[in-house]
Amino acid sequence: MGGTVDILMYHAIDDADGPTSIAPQVFADQMAALADSGLPVIGMDDVRHHLAHGTGRAVSITFDDGFQDFADRAVPVLERHGFGAMVYLVSGLVGGKENWAHCHTPPRRLMGWDTIRSLRKRGFDFGNHTCTHVNLAEHPLGEVEDQLDLAQNQIEAELGFRPQHMAPPYGASNAAVRALFADRFDTSVGVRLGVAREGDDRFDLPRLEMFYFTDIRRWRDELAGRGASYLAARRVARRVRQSLGV
Ligand SMILES: [Zn+2]
Repeated sequence: MGGTVDILMYHAIDDADGPTSIAPQVFADQMAALADSGLPVIGMDDVRHHLAHGTGRAVSITFDDGFQDFADRAVPVLERHGFGAMVYLVSGLVGGKENWAHCHTPPRRLMGWDTIRSLRKRGFDFGNHTCTHVNLAEHPLGEVEDQLDLAQNQIEAELGFRPQHMAPPYGASNAAVRALFADRFDTSVGVRLGVAREGDDRFDLPRLEMFYFTDIRRWRDELAGRGASYLAARRVARRVRQSLGV
């Protein structure tokens, strides 16, 4: 008997176009609706236990990349509601700007270590999003190990702990890469659209792309347990787009 977890996926909280940006007001509305729902918000540290031994639904909030707007725009909202969050860091670019394939133009700023340390003291958690934001499914395993361990070492040196949670860039992994995750982490999350449940691969957990829930009524429906058909439709649309290569 296990519970389920809606693992929310965010990137930037800003007014730019594109699926990696959620407008600040939309984010505030999504978090207010989450608070209204009364669903428990748990940390990634507790996801494994909830899936195996919990009951009912829980929500976990994650941010990829570590943009500066997390500190500036997301944290005040999260703290108002008493919500924690996981931020997956690109360790080699901390304090710089995004510079990876398919990144936003103009490039967005990434938080620096001082900011991250102060957020850590306030209870936010940080995970591994590689050293330089590479697609791990497209590199030799030796390079994948380097990307994982460089990030682990750098984060440990700066923050004093070794991350237990991974998010591969672009959600990209394969069985061999996930075996390397299993040696190092408690969980890893992908970009497969869905609610995490018992029996899911702990090293490729599905998430909810919050760009699909900018219409607050849809988000309230999902929170109320009426989102399954919408999610199924989004999954079909995604598969069609992927098979068309767009
Ligand atoms: Zn990323």
